[in-house]
Amino acid sequence: MPVLHNRVSNEELKARMLAETEPRTTVSFYKYFTIDDPKAFRDRLYVQFEQRKVFGRIYIATEGINAQISVPNNQFDSFKEALFSAHPALDQVRLNIALEDDGKSFWVLRMKVRARIVADGIDDPTFNPAKVGQYLKAEQVNAMAEDPNTVFVDMRNHYEYEVGHFKNALEIPSDTFRDQLPMAVDMLNDARDKNIVMYCTGGIRCEKASAYMLHHGFENVYHVEGGIIEYARQAKAKGLPLKFIGKNFVFDERMGERISDEVIAHCHQCGASCDTHTNCRNEGCHLLFIQCPNCAATYEGCCSRVCQDEMKLPLEEQRARRSGRENGMKIFNKSKGLLTSSLRIPLPETKGNTE
Ligand SMILES: [Zn+2]
Ligand SMILES: [Zn+2]
Repeated sequence: MPVLHNRVSNEELKARMLAETEPRTTVSFYKYFTIDDPKAFRDRLYVQFEQRKVFGRIYIATEGINAQISVPNNQFDSFKEALFSAHPALDQVRLNIALEDDGKSFWVLRMKVRARIVADGIDDPTFNPAKVGQYLKAEQVNAMAEDPNTVFVDMRNHYEYEVGHFKNALEIPSDTFRDQLPMAVDMLNDARDKNIVMYCTGGIRCEKASAYMLHHGFENVYHVEGGIIEYARQAKAKGLPLKFIGKNFVFDERMGERISDEVIAHCHQCGASCDTHTNCRNEGCHLLFIQCPNCAATYEGCCSRVCQDEMKLPLEEQRARRSGRENGMKIFNKSKGLLTSSLRIPLPETKGNTE
């Protein structure tokens, strides 16, 4: 009964973490650099981190490392030393410390070797993900934002762009990063003489995108260091004006951090000014969409009348309807309707939302 055993042991590990008295700090970091033997690198780093009671998720590939972890505060200096000396490319790597986090998200250390740290669909062996564009700090981002010879390029998903982006940023309208890369090259082909500034939430995607643009012969390629999160942090710390409008979408309870006061999106049901994402309350649907407080009341938190009715059916009947449906994450896209699902449920009513 290996499954049962694992489950019990997982619960026990979680209980042990919760019983710890030493506070933990949640940290994330990534770095593109060539790791010739990812498996050996992983095994060495695992020993180092295990000794320091680091928990979390770490991916290692020949192109680099991506980590979201928690570290006991009394081990933090020692952890930094171990990380910075694990490879010359990791010396002084930027650590993003999550301030609004209790450090209780992880209770086991998982370190996995993968083909890529960010799936990109690139199979050109001459592509070098470590040859990235130039980093921009917040002041430099702001200077670029004032420069008419510069194009900002958003490398996130539609639903992220919809609620917040750099002023005048170009949206690359695809739902996957791997499709966005070649699309960005096509869309920017006539802007080769301009400065191209790429950005994403935390920097890991735009940094690879910058390498991809360089690979395709673009010369003036930049990316926002640490993404929107680090830009907003630096800009606020230094009292700089914010060139990012709206919200930075993140997958936590808040569904995004407000960066500027402007609300740039609209309720998907009535078209009112609103940038609050929610998941449809019908568990068989769970669609991610934007809903204003009025519509939340009218539809009881559901994306449609159909979901509202279905939610009230006896549980057995709800389950029967759900079986056979795809359970992937569903997202409402204003221009395209329902995404990433073959599920044929009626779309939310989009009256008054035809722009
Ligand atoms: Zn509404
Ligand atoms: Zn729904």
